[in-house]
Amino acid sequence: MVAAKKGTAGDPAPRGPSAGTAAPAVPGDLAVRSGEDPWTEEEAVRARDELTSEADRLRGEILASEEALTGLMRDSGDGAGDDQADTGTKNVTREHEMALASNAREMLYQTERALARLEAGTYGLCETCGNPIGKARMQVFPRATLCVDCKQKQERRF
Ligand SMILES: [Zn+2]
Repeated sequence: MVAAKKGTAGDPAPRGPSAGTAAPAVPGDLAVRSGEDPWTEEEAVRARDELTSEADRLRGEILASEEALTGLMRDSGDGAGDDQADTGTKNVTREHEMALASNAREMLYQTERALARLEAGTYGLCETCGNPIGKARMQVFPRATLCVDCKQKQERRF
């Protein structure tokens, strides 16, 4: 758990090597499966824009969760007057908020990795076998890191 820094609100500084560049290049030669049309620059840009706005949304969600948690922690500090039922409710809320935040963090991590792969030109390549995941699949699951075959193998292991 990272302690929230004070006074950083309202400073969503852009990160990454592309910060400051007006229009970061999107590789136009992303992987496709045989029989699929190549990615057009427009499609690659759209995928990047969707991932970028998803990342922004998730950052906002995490921030809101952290603020809610900070409030809940503060409330629990002076809970001398609380009856037990109230304390129980607060614990449930806190666990719920923590679950939300950790889920959003995981999604954000995956989204940022997808963006990094998009910039590196490895977007759409299976991380296990290295084969193209397929444009159609990437457009439905923009954060996908495995091709259908590897995904199914992974799921069978559980
Ligand atoms: Zn694979």
